Amino acid sequence: MTDAHQPRPHRQDQATEKGIAVQLGTASYDEQLRQAEVLFFDKLGAWAHDTFARLNEACFGGLLAPRPVLWGLTPHGRSLGYYHAGSRRIVLHESLIRPSGNAWGQASLLGPRYAEDVLLHEMVHAAQHERRGGPLGREANGPHNEPVWCAEIERLTPLLGLPPIKARPVKPRRVNGTVSRRPRDGYLSQGQIARWPHCLRPAEYYEAGVRHLLDAA
Ligand SMILES: [Zn+2]
Repeated sequence: MTDAHQPRPHRQDQATEKGIAVQLGTASYDEQLRQAEVLFFDKLGAWAHDTFARLNEACFGGLLAPRPVLWGLTPHGRSLGYYHAGSRRIVLHESLIRPSGNAWGQASLLGPRYAEDVLLHEMVHAAQHERRGGPLGREANGPHNEPVWCAEIERLTPLLGLPPIKARPVKPRRVNGTVSRRPRDGYLSQGQIARWPHCLRPAEYYEAGVRHLLDAA
């Protein structure tokens, strides 16, 4: 008798077994988290969870604690992603999936590659929060124009297959008699530091990967 003739459990049975495992507490927190994310956000929940896990391995040695990645609205709609330090959750903006008009002037770029870079950016905030053990947002120059952020994006950039960068906090300095926040030659500008890693990718990188995110999972 070949394997093909072995009785196979019905899909419903498998689902029930999984459900019991959760009830008995045998599923790990990470497995439960994935189930919850799929329950709430279907394919997008699976995509976010699995992309988080992959980036965690590739960029943080798997050390970043699992946490919910939610789809919704970011505060004030100012950004396409948000890290909430209080709950340690990451929120990805719905416009990454369903662009309304030309959201942020970037509608042609939105898709899984763009969303992955948004998620990675928020994961850096999460990693810095965990390492520091303290709240974010108290830095005088904001969360990006800081030595720890700059050091981290320098470390991570080659891991993305991109050429090395140089980043340091950009401070006001006098150039030719005028005070400005101009970066030193060869270093990222303050705006680029804040828009990492999107600032490093050519538009073609995102356009080549544009698919509807709902097709991605
Ligand atoms: Zn940020």
